[in-house]
Amino acid sequence: MANPHPHFLIITFPAQGHINPALELAKRLIGVGADVTFATTIHAKSSLAKTPTVDGLRFATFSDGQEEGVKPGPNYLSVFRRLASENLSELIMASANEGRPISCLIYAILIPWAAELARSLNIPSAFLWIQPATVLDIYYYYFNGFGDLIRSKSSDPSFSIELPGLPSLSRQDLPSFLVGSDQNQENPALAAFQKHLEILEQEENPKALVNTFDALEPEALRAVEKLKLTVVGPLIPSGFLDGKDASDTPSGGDLSDGSRDYMEWLNSKPESTVVYVSFGSISMFSKQQMEEIARGLLESGRPFLWVIRAKENGEKNKEDKLSCQAELEKQGMLIQWCSQMEVLSHPSLGCFVTHCGWNSSIESLASGVPMIAFPQWADQGTNTKLIKDVWKTGVRLMVNEEEMVTSDEIKRCLELVMGDGEKGQEMRKNAKKWKILAKEALKEGGSSHKNLKNFVDEVIQGY
Ligand code: UDP
Repeated sequence: MANPHPHFLIITFPAQGHINPALELAKRLIGVGADVTFATTIHAKSSLAKTPTVDGLRFATFSDGQEEGVKPGPNYLSVFRRLASENLSELIMASANEGRPISCLIYAILIPWAAELARSLNIPSAFLWIQPATVLDIYYYYFNGFGDLIRSKSSDPSFSIELPGLPSLSRQDLPSFLVGSDQNQENPALAAFQKHLEILEQEENPKALVNTFDALEPEALRAVEKLKLTVVGPLIPSGFLDGKDASDTPSGGDLSDGSRDYMEWLNSKPESTVVYVSFGSISMFSKQQMEEIARGLLESGRPFLWVIRAKENGEKNKEDKLSCQAELEKQGMLIQWCSQMEVLSHPSLGCFVTHCGWNSSIESLASGVPMIAFPQWADQGTNTKLIKDVWKTGVRLMVNEEEMVTSDEIKRCLELVMGDGEKGQEMRKNAKKWKILAKEALKEGGSSHKNLKNFVDEVIQGY
């Protein structure tokens, strides 16, 4: 029966990079008239510095032990599955009893079992893909005909592959789970991706919501006909793009708290001059690598805002201090966390040195900020390829024989992106273009806005 006021239940893996786009999706769904319950762990919820207070958004939490200091072990994915599925079943039944039945369960990556759970409880489900469509296509091809070839060449540094509808990809452009040291058939993340794709193929009317926008990946979105993708991105707190301050625009969530002095510091800097350096919520570098980055930044002579996350246990020891700490603090600002979209949309921003996690990449694209890429694992190499060669709004840092990026390389890339040369001018021009196109997609009547509305209408009709 059609329910004119749909109620979505969203579940993600409890990591910052998964929660942020899903919370943004929740806000968008509410914006087009739906209610949303967001299920997450007590630990993840309690570490959200700013829990968005949006009418129509409720949180439902469950314990994975982390709030009591239990560290996630190697089997965390299966522990999470057991705890979350028990909780979701109860939640779905309780919502029905309260007269607020769940109209659709939206689950993000690493949670393929949620589709089966939804089916067993007779409710529709939809998958939220939080990486580019290109990466979903690559996984599709890997599991459908190209796996043997990719595996047989995975340690050949000169290997490159042509996949239908995608740019030519070299080994370093492929997701790390398919090549190199992360390549392992037993990899639980890879197994989950395979399951996700199988479900999408089995479903008669598959619904995969993708955090990208039409103009960004027109070919990749159509490359695999079987994957009927619904494009709803960029899933970012877009209020910042219109110059609203943080109080007007509750950000997706911040798994870490901190001071906001950096905004004042940014306000004191001229337009397009600041280098923002941040490598997401997971990646960590060796002390030696950090020293090289530090020297490169110092020698560039440019002001920089550098996010250096505290260790998981919050411990700080003397050895963590960089040798040139005092000079760094004179020329730039070192912080442990920031509201990244607010920083990226600040007029003083000139360039983002990033690990190219998909959220960071799409936030930078939508903010019109060119990038210097230092990819580490997962989809980051593919995102880098797109940024550098397809969207042409960034460069990739080259590592030396010891797999290190030197200070000279940092300096070279900063000059390339921010300097007066032709290449830099072109990258900056392209960055501005992506910002305009991202806004177009999101505005009322824009492609992503329309797609989301249609999706909600279909749920109302009971798809
Ligand atoms: N982030 C933030 N402040 C920081 C660093 C990161 O708000 O100081 C956010 C960032 O805006 C993004 C997310 O954390 O939404 C990181 O996701 P991404 O996919 O870029 O990388 P991951 O953390 O998953 O490696």
